Amino acid sequence: MSLVVARTIAQARALVAEARRQGRSIEFVPTMGALHEGHGSLMDLARRPQGFLVVSIFVNPIQFDRADDYERYPRTLEADVEFCRRRGVDLVFAPSIEEMYPQPQRAFVEVTGLTEHLCGRFRPGHFRGVATVVTKLFGIVQPDRAYFGEKDAQQLAVVRRMVRDLNMPVEIVACPTVREADGLAMSSRNGRLSPAERSAASAIYRALQAAAAQVRAGARDPAVVRRAGLALLQAEPLLRPEYFDIVDPEEIQPVLMIESEVLIACAAWAGTTRLIDSLRATPPLNA
Ligand code: AMP
Repeated sequence: MSLVVARTIAQARALVAEARRQGRSIEFVPTMGALHEGHGSLMDLARRPQGFLVVSIFVNPIQFDRADDYERYPRTLEADVEFCRRRGVDLVFAPSIEEMYPQPQRAFVEVTGLTEHLCGRFRPGHFRGVATVVTKLFGIVQPDRAYFGEKDAQQLAVVRRMVRDLNMPVEIVACPTVREADGLAMSSRNGRLSPAERSAASAIYRALQAAAAQVRAGARDPAVVRRAGLALLQAEPLLRPEYFDIVDPEEIQPVLMIESEVLIACAAWAGTTRLIDSLRATPPLNA
């Protein structure tokens, strides 16, 4: 079957219902567009023999804490649809703002605790916007499985917890981070970097790796691990670190002592572009 682009909720629902009648499973990859190989890897994992692959493309205004970031967010629908076609997507759901928010949104989904630290601390309302739009999209697409990147580790934890706590009938599949050759995590925002910022940005991955190496070598004190990572970030004058933290991967709370797997997460600004990345690391058994 060839790819269909649905601009309305009614059309998307009808196509999904038809696929279900044919006995196909519904596989769902939510995105904000400006698609790259990171998104492509989610689509590759989501493509199944009896599956109906739905990709949503929607730049969700209620998850942006800064108007300038929302306005500058890249929008490349035509190229995105071609990208999806090449990737074997069955349905692209690309609604307008009016379609998703025809009246002021009064119902919101909030995941507490997990949103206090990392990006939640610096982007007020962001995860409420994410949880709300993901809930709306799940209500429209009603997927069997939904695919999320580990790159956005806090988002993944928040969505997992939301689905569990609210008994949503969908399986969340975590997908590994796809990186550029120098380690920079692929992101729709990378295109906004100047050549000098782009080259500085690779320090983020080096910093995460240095911190992860400390954990794997048995460092127990998160402050020590944090210092090792931050030193590499701070050596790069074009980067302004926002946070560099060691947290519990499920609860997203800072750990006092590293005793089991941790999430090392970082956000840094390069000029006016904010970049995030993270790595998981497990201490040695005998530490
Ligand atoms: P976005 O369009 O940025 O909202 O991302 C849509 C989905 O793609 C999210 O689940 C992201 O975590 C995931 N994603 C974005 N970048 C990458 C990447 N470099 N590797 C893997 N997944 C990614």
